[in-house]
Amino acid sequence: MSSDGRIDDASARLRARGLRVTPQRRAILSAFTGAATEHLSADEVHARAAAAVPEVGRGTVYAALAELTELGLLAAVGNPEPVRYETNVDAHQHFRCRVCLRLYDVALDAPPTAALKRRGFVVEHTTVTAEGICADCAAYDRGLSDGAARSDGVRAAAGATIALPRGTAYGVADTPIGRVQMLCTERGALRVMYADHAEGPAVAAAGARRRGAREAQRRLAELDTAIDGYFAHGTPFAQELAVDWDAAATDPDDGATLDAIRAIPFARERSYEQLGLSDAPFDRGVSIGSNPLALVVPCHRVSRGREITTWYVGGPERKRALREHERQHAER
Ligand SMILES: [Zn+2]
Ligand SMILES: [Zn+2]
Repeated sequence: MSSDGRIDDASARLRARGLRVTPQRRAILSAFTGAATEHLSADEVHARAAAAVPEVGRGTVYAALAELTELGLLAAVGNPEPVRYETNVDAHQHFRCRVCLRLYDVALDAPPTAALKRRGFVVEHTTVTAEGICADCAAYDRGLSDGAARSDGVRAAAGATIALPRGTAYGVADTPIGRVQMLCTERGALRVMYADHAEGPAVAAAGARRRGAREAQRRLAELDTAIDGYFAHGTPFAQELAVDWDAAATDPDDGATLDAIRAIPFARERSYEQLGLSDAPFDRGVSIGSNPLALVVPCHRVSRGREITTWYVGGPERKRALREHERQHAER
């Protein structure tokens, strides 16, 4: 087939997917001259594409290869991650989680190779890797939504009759990402939540009915100053900022998880499985999903592996805004 013929074929395939035909995309697709039997490295594709379109850069080729793969026009074989080493030297297979990138040892049937032997290939070993989302990551995700439902449902179901500990002080702080409601007991912060949360009206109604003990008022003023400093100057919440864990956590097990999240440094992120906790991933998801202290317990810094889950107690837009806010202050 002539070079022009290949380019026309590439154009047709792009159009068939509703994609714009650019000289770069055409050159990259046309680089696969050997029909479906070729397995090219990105550098090989670049070398061939540059022969047709000299100004095409390496970065463009890498980006276009990723894009065409995502669109299903190309398939990628092989993991770009570094080699992993293990002490299990017996023949076994792996499950690779595309979210947390962990490898699990599993027993999978090896594909039959008799046909290869008949063709003269000497098969020394076969590698089978199943890929997808591991049980831990799936359980954590279910926990997040269960936890969110728990805080939306159970707490809100208490409705206007929401019960607050004696002497609780209530206040609001207006921030760049909306109004935040604060509840403090004499021992520390009880709730920090976005006012548009399902439970917001009930908390406002219950909070407005009480003045709060003097010590709770002092805690509230402290919390208000901390929230103001966080937004105005990017000041991290002090680890010493008092929290009334006994009253704040809906489940006693939540305390350890929420405390571990407080230790994640400003503008950094950590995956749920890297928090140094021993509880089950599902339970951890529930604790984070029902976080009663937004901002103070920075659950917006917790990721699921390399994935920044869009889930957030205040919605994905607030999560994005908080991460951007911290990133900007960290750069100063
Ligand atoms: Zn995983
Ligand atoms: Zn292994």
